[in-house]
Amino acid sequence: MGIWLEGRNLAGKIKEEVKEQVDHYRNLTDQAPGLVGILVGDNPASKVYLRTKERTSQKLGIHSEILTFPKEFEKISLQAEIEKLNQREDVDGILVQLPLPTHLNPYEIIALISPEKDVDGIHPFSLGTLLWNQEGFNACTPIGIIELLKFNNIGILGKRVVIIGRSLIVGKPLAALMTNEHGTVAICHSKTENLPQIAAEADILVAAMGKAAYVTPEFVKPGATVIDVGVNQLRDKEKVKEFFGEDEKREKGFQEKGYTLIGDVDPRVIEKAEYLTPVPGGVGPLTVAMLMRNTLEAFKRRRELE
Ligand code: NAP
Repeated sequence: MGIWLEGRNLAGKIKEEVKEQVDHYRNLTDQAPGLVGILVGDNPASKVYLRTKERTSQKLGIHSEILTFPKEFEKISLQAEIEKLNQREDVDGILVQLPLPTHLNPYEIIALISPEKDVDGIHPFSLGTLLWNQEGFNACTPIGIIELLKFNNIGILGKRVVIIGRSLIVGKPLAALMTNEHGTVAICHSKTENLPQIAAEADILVAAMGKAAYVTPEFVKPGATVIDVGVNQLRDKEKVKEFFGEDEKREKGFQEKGYTLIGDVDPRVIEKAEYLTPVPGGVGPLTVAMLMRNTLEAFKRRRELE
């Protein structure tokens, strides 16, 4: 039986450190970091994510704004809004909540953000510095995973790392970070052949697919570390019982919301792995903590503060 690798403690510690520094710089400069989130359309999950980021910012003393635009908002108008934010002295971080409506190309839009304000770490400049293995903004979820492994003394050097998923926000930057940490990395995707066999070679297996409980024990080498990035809604009551057994808290949540959250990894993998991150409470809290840390970093760099 493995150990649940919780992210909340580390996320709390990082947020505390950010808050201390924000307070310190406010006393010193009478200024605080500013973060602006952009939402185009009304995707309910995007709204929840942005609200969480806003609430956390406020708790840490970071100024936070959410700009909301209708789903048919034109590229030229969005471009003008991003230009304004690039110019604003009080804005240190700009994040465009993905996914965007289909008429807006996310690559074109992200590229409009000033690299010095790219706190999501997915601007081409940030991804370039990542490949160069030089200092820059790292994508929040991937760097959160690296910090979680380090915090728990789980070595990456020389280890075989398998990442399922090749997205811009998780799979690809994580592969680069793991390589920089001297892991031996394979990236898998929907066209990968023999996925379970490849996954079962991993010392560190990361699932970032968006497919509920897809990674079953047969994908996992005994004693592996398994990082579950996926966040999916499970609405089948029988399945909730099957995956989680008798779990009062889950059942209560299910009654209230009509679903429970489940990752891309079958929770029963805990019986085979050495470590498994829970969903919720694993990677998610770290993503937000890293965004806060990046925003503070942007604030410091823009003002040349130590
Ligand atoms: P995405 O852009 O949809 O990418 C999914 C990736 O998974 C793609 O590369 C896709 O392959 C691959 N994939 C899908 N089905 C597969 C299959 N059957 N076998 C192998 N590979 C498969 O997703 P994302 O934005 O990276 O997010 C992934 C999951 O993580 C989602 O559940 C999301 O909600 C969650 N997430 C959580 C956090 C957090 O903070 N906890 C942060 C970000 C994302 P192709 O490239 O071939 O299509």
